[in-house]
Amino acid sequence: MAEINENRKKALDRSEVLKERIEKYLQNRSRIPTGREKSQVIKKQKEKIRDILGGSEKDWNNWEWQMQNRISDANTLARVLKIDDKAQEKIKEIGKKYRWSISPYYLSLIDPSEQWDPIKLQSVPSAMELLGEGTPDPMGEEFTSPASSITRRYPDRLIIKVTNQCGMYCRHCQRRRGIGEVDKPTPVEELEEAIKYVRDNPEIRDVLLTGGDAFLLSNERIEWILKELRSIDHVEVIRLGSRTLVTLPQRIDDELAEILSRYHPVFVNTQFNHPQEITEEAAEACNKLANAGVPLGNQMVLLRRINDKPDVVKRLNHELLKVRVSPYYIFHAKGVEGTTHFRTRVEKGMEIMENLRGFTSGLAIPTFIINAPHGYGKTPVLPEYVVSWGGDHILLRTWEGRVMEYPNVLDEWSDEEVF
Ligand SMILES: *Cc1c(COP(=O)(O)O)cnc(C)c1O
Repeated sequence: MAEINENRKKALDRSEVLKERIEKYLQNRSRIPTGREKSQVIKKQKEKIRDILGGSEKDWNNWEWQMQNRISDANTLARVLKIDDKAQEKIKEIGKKYRWSISPYYLSLIDPSEQWDPIKLQSVPSAMELLGEGTPDPMGEEFTSPASSITRRYPDRLIIKVTNQCGMYCRHCQRRRGIGEVDKPTPVEELEEAIKYVRDNPEIRDVLLTGGDAFLLSNERIEWILKELRSIDHVEVIRLGSRTLVTLPQRIDDELAEILSRYHPVFVNTQFNHPQEITEEAAEACNKLANAGVPLGNQMVLLRRINDKPDVVKRLNHELLKVRVSPYYIFHAKGVEGTTHFRTRVEKGMEIMENLRGFTSGLAIPTFIINAPHGYGKTPVLPEYVVSWGGDHILLRTWEGRVMEYPNVLDEWSDEEVF
């Protein structure tokens, strides 16, 4: 009895320490609102935008209306946000070099009272785009295409770029070079050539459809591609990459979800970068796909001023799990021309990873990735938890920074001795 009481007391003391470990996050959390929590501000902005564009509620919920009514001129933008004449001129100047276009929905998520609003930073052109260094193609993607529309960097999987269209032209886009002036789905002949390459190479077991944004294709075209790929025996997994769940959630209609459900296993990866992007509409889009049996993953891009704080990423990942999206990757931003103002030091990513492991569920912990130069592939960068290697033990560092000795087995058994 005395021993039980002693153990209970130790556990209660430990609980107190654990409570202290989370206290700061709990205080911070209320300062990192989600889109759902900002629904009142968003609703007001939505009404303002609808007044300008003249759409009905039904139009608003129609993705084709959203696409047709994308805002891509500085004057209209200035009627929605506070933008002075000088800034308007700048936006026009940037627009000549780098395309921009914002769906009415995504525009409505911007809180006009916030100077560093994370939605605004991702969607509204900034004067910074014309400053800074950077190269158009730091990845050398040009040299990894064995057939038209294909990018192959790995033994067993590849990408097919099915369109260059996007719902919104992200200011941090790492594929800026491929986003042309004219929206263009990949021609059928080129898709046929890409599918033939997959068919002719039996080691390819995982095909990733991306772009651009794979969900900007029509349902008919998506179904045709899925059907073709499913007719290839060695294709085990099909993945689609789309940011429409974030920027144009109206796109996820019942028919699309139904089509995907007929070609399983079909996975969808998306890119939420901030909790403010998780609105009721985005949650509904995720829910539709999850209900259709589609496993969802998130590929966050680490962006200065947007999500370069451990608590922002923690909140984002928790909110993603609530809508059944698994945090999959955090990408370090490459030095793409016109986007370098978003770059952080690599240490930022390490700090974020340190603040996740142990402090929150393993489910909420993605892998931090740096894309190696010249298209040599995704490379994980992890905080070091093995402090030193000894012959019969290692030194471990725990998530709280305790250094502990852990015995290692001596590798001297031979098979003859077992039986
Ligand atoms: C990212 C990527 C993939 C998929 O990589 P995973 O680590 O399996 O998610 C496949 N092909 C190319 C060319 C890629 O860039």
